[in-house]
Amino acid sequence: MSERIVVVGAGQMGNGIAHVFAAAGHSVTMIDVSRDALGRGRATIEKNMARQVQKGSLDAAARDAALGRIALSETLEPVREADIVIEAATENAELKFRIFGDLDAAAPNGAILASNTSSISITEIAARTGRPAQVIGMHFMNPVPVMQLVEVIRGLATSDETTTRVLDLAKRLGKTPVEVNDYPGFVSNRVLMPMINEAVYCLMEGVGSAVAIDTVMKLGMNHPMGPLALADLIGLDTCVSIIEVLHRGLGDPKYRPCPLLRKYVAAGWLGRKTGRGFFSY
Ligand code: NAD
Repeated sequence: MSERIVVVGAGQMGNGIAHVFAAAGHSVTMIDVSRDALGRGRATIEKNMARQVQKGSLDAAARDAALGRIALSETLEPVREADIVIEAATENAELKFRIFGDLDAAAPNGAILASNTSSISITEIAARTGRPAQVIGMHFMNPVPVMQLVEVIRGLATSDETTTRVLDLAKRLGKTPVEVNDYPGFVSNRVLMPMINEAVYCLMEGVGSAVAIDTVMKLGMNHPMGPLALADLIGLDTCVSIIEVLHRGLGDPKYRPCPLLRKYVAAGWLGRKTGRGFFSY
């Protein structure tokens, strides 16, 4: 069974999500307000699929077929034909509330509206639509074609039927879904972000250099990547937004974002995407 998928946002997550759906045989339309982002998103998918062909995990004919299933759009028109919409636009609550209002107006009645948000409340997003039972979190990990997990987040009103459909869909992508409930940061970022924030405090207080902190966590805790390098991969601006959601949503001062993390963001040192964060790229 293949569904008509619409992905809203063609950035680092959106193009990865479009990639895995197209490779699994679904027709996918990637929508973005920026034509440049659509072009870059498509180019990234081509580059990443070429790498998979080189490694032998995808054959060239399957690659060509998958690329042929991906369409691009600057408007929400394709949402009218969608079975499932996955929103992966910028991490900003007001923006997502507006997008979900528009998606609800455009999508057919039975369509599921999912968000790839890292931290914004699924319950609150769902309340902006007339179909809260069909709104759910489908949180892919970065880089999407490589990472096994999809965190499936049930909002307060999400139905069992919607949850079952999304769990099944994730399995058909070859991913492992894990069902969780909607609280700030869900499970992934509730546990990950305090660790990243604490690593930045260690750097700020001079407990160790960035290399020392990451090496302790890699070699001592068997993490494949240190917390500061991981923060650079996620984007330091995205990290601050998520930590602010934990701080606001849980009301505990232990979640306050580290001032050094804020300083890096203020300097425009956002990690890999700007060539400089805790490390240089
Ligand atoms: P990004 O900045 O790379 O991409 C966001 C894209 O959304 C941009 O191309 C932007 O033009 C587009 N956009 C903005 N407003 C839009 C609109 N109204 N309609 C359509 N497109 C619009 O960001 P990203 O890292 O891909 O993150 C996207 C989402 O995925 C966020 O909610 C983020 O929290 C979540 N997420 C990120 C990661 C990560 O590691 N970066 C991991 C998991 C989840």
